[in-house]
Amino acid sequence: MSAKKSAQTTLIHSVYAPPPGFAAFPTAIHHASTVLFKDVAAMRSGDWKEKNAYTYGLHGTPTTFTLEARLAEIEGGNFCLLAPSGLAAIAMVDFALLKTGDDVLLPDNVYNPNRELGNWLTRDFGMTARYYDPLVGAGIAELILPNTKLIWTEAPGSVSMEVPDLPAICKAAHDKGVLVALDNTWSAGLALRGFDLGVDIIMQALTKYQSGGSDVLMGALITRDRDLNDRLALAHMRLGMGVSPDDAYLVMRGLPSMKLRFEAHDAGARAVAAWLKSRPEITRVLHPAFADCPGHDTWKRDFNGAGGLFSVLFDAKYSEAQTDRFVDALALFGLGYSWGGANSLVMPYRVKAMRASWPDGGILVRFNIGLEDTADLIADIEQALATL
Ligand SMILES: *Cc1c(COP(=O)(O)O)cnc(C)c1O
Repeated sequence: MSAKKSAQTTLIHSVYAPPPGFAAFPTAIHHASTVLFKDVAAMRSGDWKEKNAYTYGLHGTPTTFTLEARLAEIEGGNFCLLAPSGLAAIAMVDFALLKTGDDVLLPDNVYNPNRELGNWLTRDFGMTARYYDPLVGAGIAELILPNTKLIWTEAPGSVSMEVPDLPAICKAAHDKGVLVALDNTWSAGLALRGFDLGVDIIMQALTKYQSGGSDVLMGALITRDRDLNDRLALAHMRLGMGVSPDDAYLVMRGLPSMKLRFEAHDAGARAVAAWLKSRPEITRVLHPAFADCPGHDTWKRDFNGAGGLFSVLFDAKYSEAQTDRFVDALALFGLGYSWGGANSLVMPYRVKAMRASWPDGGILVRFNIGLEDTADLIADIEQALATL
């Protein structure tokens, strides 16, 4: 065992071992559907779940196994499974761990497609998905029913940005034998150590910071516990969750620069958010590092950084037509979903339609601060605000 490395060094020094006689840093891209066995005995002895042999392209190649090992190391876990998107990884958790009659709890601010999935499970699969106040903390204990099997968390919620009290939620869940899954995409596994706070499964949308290129979709599930990983791996196999080795390579290409990019996104977002906070058009800055943000104290306790994503609330005197005009007037911010790439993005949300409870008030607009010069971004926002 080598000495424990810092996060930055871990992102650069890969577990990858190149083929003998061909020493190079990049992980090789291995394509295969069929994987050939040496003989029948070798075919019978390999176990796809243990990953002690290559059995079939869908169950992994040297390329995808390397990415899995790297992601587990970054997150402080032992096991990792790749999925073709972040949402596919989320769905895999639900289909692995829930059956008819089971109950799952999701935060009311959950990533909206996860809510769609929960509603589908309730409508067509004989399960119940119920939604809790993301700031419920230890109070989640009162919501856990005898048939509750899983609690989803998101830290912070990626639109309204509330920061949940993960240790309190995990303690209440574990007291009742309930598993906790964390969507840790916002922090890229760098700014929040989910396993140390008690969560059982960490989900990452690698589409965001790991890739960093706005060009690839992928998700991951990371665990510490072998039995839990095996349950997820069965669903992974049964649902045919393969990823392309080319895409796995693209994600790995982003890893060495991820922490530096993340820190640049963080610094840029805090600078733009601070400027927005000084503006009369904005009533609240929903960025976990700012005191306006629900769960700010929890962020200070549990996180050691922030990403590039935050939201603001416009003064209620501005209509949606006006804030839409503001969004359309931005020149450097692309109007689009996702985040984690070099380009800044913006998205207005109708939050009330997305959740059970949300106070009346101004329009919420979400910013993803990319890697452009912050002064240029602020100047762009300033000229767009003038159109209000
Ligand atoms: C993007 C995202 C996902 C889903 O990832 P995809 O790869 O786009 O499916 C899940 N959760 C959060 C918080 C995200 O931002």
